[in-house]
Amino acid sequence: MLATALPFVIAMGLGLVVGALVGLLIGQLLPGRERPGRRTQPAAGRAVPAAGGRWITARYAGICRSCGAPIAVGDHVLHRPRRTICAACG
Ligand SMILES: [Zn+2]
Repeated sequence: MLATALPFVIAMGLGLVVGALVGLLIGQLLPGRERPGRRTQPAAGRAVPAAGGRWITARYAGICRSCGAPIAVGDHVLHRPRRTICAACG
């Protein structure tokens, strides 16, 4: 009786394999799907949108518009239009 069931088992196994392959293929083709290893970096500017400005990493040296403290490149500063405010004042 095992011999009679064997073709069905093979057919079922093949069906599972084919189904899995088709599923993988469709998964690869579907747009907007997150693929491992190719995920987009989270936006660096996705800082907390503070009221009247946003927190950024300073790309230029400057001076805090509020207290006059020097701002170095790489500092965490609150950026507003035409104003840059140091972390202490922000
Ligand atoms: Zn300041």
